[in-house]
Amino acid sequence: MVMPAPAVSGTGGAAPGTVGDVRRSNLALVLGSIAEFPPGTCPSRAQVAAATGLTKASVSSLVLDLLDAGLIREVGLNPQGRGRPGVGLELNPSRAVMGMEINVDYISAAVVDLTGKVLIREVKERDNRNSAHAPVLAALAALAVRVRSSAGERGVEVLGGGLAVPGLVDPARARVLTAPNLGWVDVDLDLDALLPEAPLGVALFNEANAAALAELRDRPDGASDFLFVSGEVGVGGGIVIGSELFTGPEGHAGEVGHIVVDPDGGHCSCGGTGCLETVAGQDAIFTAAGLVPDTGSRSASMSALLQALKAAEPGPVTAVERAGRSLGIALASAARVVDIQSVVLGGHFALLEPWLRAPLLESLGKYAPGKYAPEQVTVSAVGEAGALLGSAGSVIRSLMEAPHRLHA
Ligand SMILES: [Zn+2]
Repeated sequence: MVMPAPAVSGTGGAAPGTVGDVRRSNLALVLGSIAEFPPGTCPSRAQVAAATGLTKASVSSLVLDLLDAGLIREVGLNPQGRGRPGVGLELNPSRAVMGMEINVDYISAAVVDLTGKVLIREVKERDNRNSAHAPVLAALAALAVRVRSSAGERGVEVLGGGLAVPGLVDPARARVLTAPNLGWVDVDLDLDALLPEAPLGVALFNEANAAALAELRDRPDGASDFLFVSGEVGVGGGIVIGSELFTGPEGHAGEVGHIVVDPDGGHCSCGGTGCLETVAGQDAIFTAAGLVPDTGSRSASMSALLQALKAAEPGPVTAVERAGRSLGIALASAARVVDIQSVVLGGHFALLEPWLRAPLLESLGKYAPGKYAPEQVTVSAVGEAGALLGSAGSVIRSLMEAPHRLHA
């Protein structure tokens, strides 16, 4: 039986210490244990019991619930078990979630299975600047229907989803508080319309925070503390401390793009003056480089900029160097406040890194001497799909922590 589920993470339900609560937490323990075995291992019930410390009888009962909820499946004989071979268990490959993203110049959707593997991904360029939210949501809903239907043709059921937007959000109320580059203020989103009837509903995320979470999962160096900063039309940031996203009491921490780098600078979309975004945001760089931004195609504009940089054209080189120096000023300030000594560059900062890096390091050395070692300034391991994958990953993580949401 499927329970109505909240659109945001949380275990909800019984008070701590009750029988129901213990069972729910054991369900999560067993599901997490099955997920943590190396891919292809397909542990037996006995192996799960050994790994979790639960009795075999308890594991068998909990496994029945997880099978009933469709989160795991039984596969063949498990040859690795001691003694009599048992049936192996694995996450059900025909269950998935959908990551979705609305950004200034595109919308996208991806179906991601419970192991985090991307099954389908579609990106549609669309000029969303100063658009009313309804047509943008309608376009995303149409994309989601198409992608969900492709998944369905492959026998994959989408359980729920996550939507990332470039702005401050109130996830509990499904409200975008402000997304300056979309022109949205206090916009309530009908998230259920994106994935009608999906048992887990759709959760709302800030784009840079979601991308930071995707980065956390895929860091080749296994870093658990870093500042993620992503250049788009706006500049977003996410603070990861101890492998957890730090969002602050209201959920709005990490707004690196609105750190002031030039008190006498230009007006910012946030209403402030001289924010990093006014120097290092995409349009700011294009304009300073003497390139006219093509609002219909960010990839075309970025290609033109990269070509000009490769040809060492002085205007574009100077514009990107200035962006790099300003990024350094902002990150130097951030390092003083949160004491994180590792930076991950995403979005166009990753693409422009060969030209940004030297002025960025020079600026960091000047304004926060000794805080950042050069090797701790790295580019994104995830790439441009970070927000999409991070929002999907976050929904999977909350499901793993509370699988009872799919089962009575
Ligand atoms: Zn600002």
